[in-house]
Amino acid sequence: MNFIQTRGCDANRVISVSFSQAILSPIASFGGLYVPENFPHLGEEFLSKHINSSYKELASDLLSRFEIDISQDVIDEALELYDKFDDVTNPVPLVKLKENLYISELYHGPTRAFKDMALQPFGKILSCVAQKREENYLILVATSGDTGPAALETFKNQKNIQVVCLYPANGTSDVQRLQMVTEDASNLKVIGIKGNFDDAQSALKNLLASKSFINRLKERNISLSAANSVNFGRIIFQIIYHIHNYLELLRQEAIGIGEKVYLNVPSGNFGNVLGAYYAMLMGLPVEKLLISSNENNILTRLIQTGIYDIRDADLKQTTSPAMDILKSSNVERVLFSLYGSDRTKELMNDLDSKHIYTLTAKELEKLQEIFVADFCSDIEGKKYIKSAFNDGYLMDPHTATCFKTHETLSNPNIKSIIYSTAEWTKFSTVIANALTGEVDAKDSEALKAISKEANVEIPEMIKSLFNKKIVHESIIEKEDIEKEILKFL
Ligand SMILES: *Cc1c(COP(=O)(O)O)cnc(C)c1O
Repeated sequence: MNFIQTRGCDANRVISVSFSQAILSPIASFGGLYVPENFPHLGEEFLSKHINSSYKELASDLLSRFEIDISQDVIDEALELYDKFDDVTNPVPLVKLKENLYISELYHGPTRAFKDMALQPFGKILSCVAQKREENYLILVATSGDTGPAALETFKNQKNIQVVCLYPANGTSDVQRLQMVTEDASNLKVIGIKGNFDDAQSALKNLLASKSFINRLKERNISLSAANSVNFGRIIFQIIYHIHNYLELLRQEAIGIGEKVYLNVPSGNFGNVLGAYYAMLMGLPVEKLLISSNENNILTRLIQTGIYDIRDADLKQTTSPAMDILKSSNVERVLFSLYGSDRTKELMNDLDSKHIYTLTAKELEKLQEIFVADFCSDIEGKKYIKSAFNDGYLMDPHTATCFKTHETLSNPNIKSIIYSTAEWTKFSTVIANALTGEVDAKDSEALKAISKEANVEIPEMIKSLFNKKIVHESIIEKEDIEKEILKFL
């Protein structure tokens, strides 16, 4: 299957490219993104066929329906990485919380956040493609805390790939920072930026657009690629678990085949819920997709009003930082799917030049047939963490935002799946505060406090972080990033 472009095609590019090309250079004409030309239809037959399949069997069959130009042995090798997750037989447990409410735990991978679900296999595939082509790639990553560790973990020691990871020096949890700065491999460079996540992100965007930087890389025989969720190589792995969850509900005899369910996703860059949307396009029985935001509620406002407005928007720092976002990249893929490339180009141009776009009433109606949205403040989130804990469930502040939408938007007679995107260990200070009122604790103290309060063990991989050697010490000004990267290369 080939991949086409959300904003149409300019004169310099071909109309469609292969999967490998789309993942090696993910930015398409006019700054658009790549999307599959069409989607395989799966339907009930596919679900029935996989009722007894393992996660890997399901994934392998699903990927084969996309007919991507990646050989089966590479796909197999990539999927084997799910064996490293907590439960070898099932990387994504579906836990019943109460009547009609289920939690899909996406955080059982090596870095304890949902980013591993896609970055683990994607990293393997990207490096295999680069090796086969005998090309060298530099992957630039700007992270607010979860993408960085997951990208470093997947690319460490991979041939033909180098990774530079930029993080806000004081903007991550201790655990997230330690996961990055202790990651020791000669092809990895981790740099702290004096500033916030937006500063790291805009520094990265400037580099991606800089002709002189790209030429410097060319002299070294290196091309640039990206590992954030604009890369379809991540999205494709984020379709699978939505289908897996539905199969789990069937296996647990909670639903009958064809019964519609809510999928409730804590959303930032819209990659996770885009996978859910694609699963729905492919025939998964979904009642509605619930978008849960924090106080940076740009997505909620889009879905409620049809207006994407960042003219006066200030990014707020919340307790769910992976969702602190103004420009949510993957919304563009939904616009394309619903309104086509001409309209998508128009809307995205409006966003770039006027910082606002407005859907027509008809367009909004189409969007609302699929999505509903609400946002959750930090204070509300804390209450949900506490009340879920009292019901016997320990969850992180991103997951907590879904409990608000669950309350305000879902019909309690229909089954709901809430996506849990991070383990409690990654955001322990927020959770300790919610559970015990403790303020200003360090991660190391908060972890112990929660461990005691909830009677759970701190996982060994988290405990050991505090004793590991710090190998990446650079903390620099934004202006010095380019110099620092070229020094590393
Ligand atoms: C990345 C992330 C999200 C947001 O996912 P998107 O695909 O960007 O919408 C939510 N929660 C956690 C913990 C994350 O790491």
